[in-house]
Amino acid sequence: MALGKDYATQECSIADALEIVGERWTLLVVRDALFGVRRYNDFLVHLGIPRAVLSARLQKLTERGVLEKRRYQHSPPRDEYVITARGIALWPTLRSLGLWGREHVTGAQLRSFRHAGCRTELGAYGECPACGVVVPVEDVLMEPGPALDTNPTDPVSRALLTPKRLLEPLSV
Ligand SMILES: [Zn+2]
Repeated sequence: MALGKDYATQECSIADALEIVGERWTLLVVRDALFGVRRYNDFLVHLGIPRAVLSARLQKLTERGVLEKRRYQHSPPRDEYVITARGIALWPTLRSLGLWGREHVTGAQLRSFRHAGCRTELGAYGECPACGVVVPVEDVLMEPGPALDTNPTDPVSRALLTPKRLLEPLSV
């Protein structure tokens, strides 16, 4: 029996979500968009992804309302990809996945995500244990952790060495 290309036979909302974000690279594109990456070339150099794959992922995420394409320059025309509320709603999932990777796979802290107001590191669902609130994504401060390469070759990785809030557009 051939394996299906989708999860159409699954009555499961995880399977339905994976129809949109389950392909290779897709969640990393969403991650970068949360980090403030917006421009095609910035995704390209940061992810080290084939152009055709990046184009396909950006198109699908735009069609499914996770990213929004916005024209930022008219002559010549240039678009950027901005994460939508629908995409931002994936943040707690990515936070949990990142902590799982740190605790069960790498054993190393590559980045830290803190509540900008009090500098406490977020819990597994994006909450601040000190303040007892779910921290709005724009109030999450991202900083390099001790295991992160401090001399990366691509300009996006270099720009991300400077602490910044999530969603704040990255200036490369
Ligand atoms: Zn706090």
